[in-house]
Amino acid sequence: GFYSSNIPQLPPDPLFGIKARFALDTHPNKVDLGVGAYRDENGKPWILPSVRLAENLLQHSADFNHEYLPITGLKSLTEEAAKVILGDESRAIKEKRVVSIQSLSGTGSLHLAAKLIALFFKPADGTTESPVIYISDPSWANHIQVFETCGLKTARYPYLDAEKKVIRINEYVKTIEEAPRGSVFLLHATAHNPTGIDPTPEQWKIVLKAISDNGHLPLFDCAYQGFTTGSLSEDAWALRHAIDTEGYKFPGVLVCQSFAKNCGMYGERVGAFHVILPVHDEALNSAVLSQLSKVIRSEISNPPGYGAKIVSLILTTPELKKQWEQDLITMSSRIFGMRKALVAELERLGTPGSWKHIVEQKGMFSFTGLTPEQTDKLAEDYGIYMTRNGRASIAGLNGGNVKYVAKGIDGVVR
Ligand code: PLP
Repeated sequence: GFYSSNIPQLPPDPLFGIKARFALDTHPNKVDLGVGAYRDENGKPWILPSVRLAENLLQHSADFNHEYLPITGLKSLTEEAAKVILGDESRAIKEKRVVSIQSLSGTGSLHLAAKLIALFFKPADGTTESPVIYISDPSWANHIQVFETCGLKTARYPYLDAEKKVIRINEYVKTIEEAPRGSVFLLHATAHNPTGIDPTPEQWKIVLKAISDNGHLPLFDCAYQGFTTGSLSEDAWALRHAIDTEGYKFPGVLVCQSFAKNCGMYGERVGAFHVILPVHDEALNSAVLSQLSKVIRSEISNPPGYGAKIVSLILTTPELKKQWEQDLITMSSRIFGMRKALVAELERLGTPGSWKHIVEQKGMFSFTGLTPEQTDKLAEDYGIYMTRNGRASIAGLNGGNVKYVAKGIDGVVR
């Protein structure tokens, strides 16, 4: 039976736990800087204008229905999603080396990656051991359990120098060099979560060369395309460089793509998983797709349709695509404006310490440098919530609360 002696109680998920505590907080000026979801200047969830237009088009189209999608998902979504992330001119697409399948947003895509690796990626021919998945220290809190629940071992690579707020590039590269040949390196494609610090192009080249030289498999997690610079192609630079540069010799490249953030479709679970094979091999493409299809069929039968149809319409309708690109600029520039406003206010208050890193960090988050104790105090005294590692979702700031947040930070660091 189910005995309490062998079902240990787990702590609540840290992020969703914050959401719950925030909901119960009665503080009149409370601010949620926890979960990474975009908010507009009134602090409200934002339905992107491009999404509204697509929804309208979809619901008024004569053939709109709620039938099952194919096991592999909506073809127009997966094909266009590959182009958005790999580029219209992608060599890998032209050479038919890309296997794409629809996923339950970014998390579902990472799960498919974990499954594929656990089942079929071996560090060398003839070995039976699965590879170790190297994850940045720090990283998105869910990464470790997504891989470990599929039976894979994880390890960390040094990433952030918390003191200097730069990447520990030498230790990072040393870890790549010392990892057993054929390990997997999970790379944040853009807008690193939680640090907001991405490698420079020069650092990317050093990292990717080391991964290639040591026979490792790069796995790009791309949850924030468009949030770093506002441009889809600029934010895909590292990943496209890895895939399109002939000098690298990877055993393949895996790409996990989420439309949760960049389409504001969080709850609709729209995403794709792409396997880029090193050489064109029709039989291998087909075998990989068949195995991924089996995973999908056994776990969710087929992926959800509604969000997929909306994103597909955006990607295939030029006016909607243009509107989407505009929406990405709206979101990324509002966030950047809030970074500047927060720092200006902290400087005006003379808050001890340097806060310039908040403006320099990219994407939705800032790794503020606040200690766990300071974040606890911020929640207790001010009703301002962020994760205990000091990560604040800058998208939760707006003209109405930024001064209050600065005042709270000022209060807890003094
Ligand atoms: N990867 C990273 C780094 C993330 O921050 C997130 C979401 O916060 C995800 C993946 C997956 O998000 P979703 O499953 O909602 O697409």
